[in-house]
Amino acid sequence: MSNQVVIKCKHCSKNSEYSRVKLAMMWGSTVDVTCKTCKKANRVTVNADLMSGKIPVEDKGTDPITEFLGKDKPNIQSYQIAKLHVLASENTSAQSFELKEGEQIVGRQSADDIGIVNKIRIITNDTKMSRSHCQITVTKKADNSYRYVLSDLESANGTHFQNALGSKKLELNEKVVIQVGDIVGLGYRTQIKLDI
Ligand SMILES: [Zn+2]
Repeated sequence: MSNQVVIKCKHCSKNSEYSRVKLAMMWGSTVDVTCKTCKKANRVTVNADLMSGKIPVEDKGTDPITEFLGKDKPNIQSYQIAKLHVLASENTSAQSFELKEGEQIVGRQSADDIGIVNKIRIITNDTKMSRSHCQITVTKKADNSYRYVLSDLESANGTHFQNALGSKKLELNEKVVIQVGDIVGLGYRTQIKLDI
């Protein structure tokens, strides 16, 4: 194994090498490494993916994934799949759903969704929530923790992602990595939280 770890810059796509020993001392944390070509910062999480030379968040042209990491929030590594918790609100009671590896559709339960195998059916009177509102894709990472990628399914009222850095509405085809503790707003009124 090389004593240098190669990290590809998200800004200029050039590779830079960093000391494996120095990175290992920051294992598990999220740090900014400076690109040796363009001098811009790349925020990376020091984990097995990174150390093996895989880029943790790689823009693949047509399949961009946005990762927001709050500075104040610890990046919780979990070796079991998190659950999806629906927060109680005016139109919705508290509910919890198991996630599983792969793609799942999240939306309002309706009589005509019985044929959809991989749907998380939220029981709600919130009609701002679409029946196929958003998608969460769960994949197992090289370090045996899980990655959760959120996208909007052209919902009528949008999917809003919130974390310590603020809140944003997902664009069409945008994919965002969500982490344990993050909250996602469906439509205007209902919130779901990824948690253990
Ligand atoms: Zn660069």
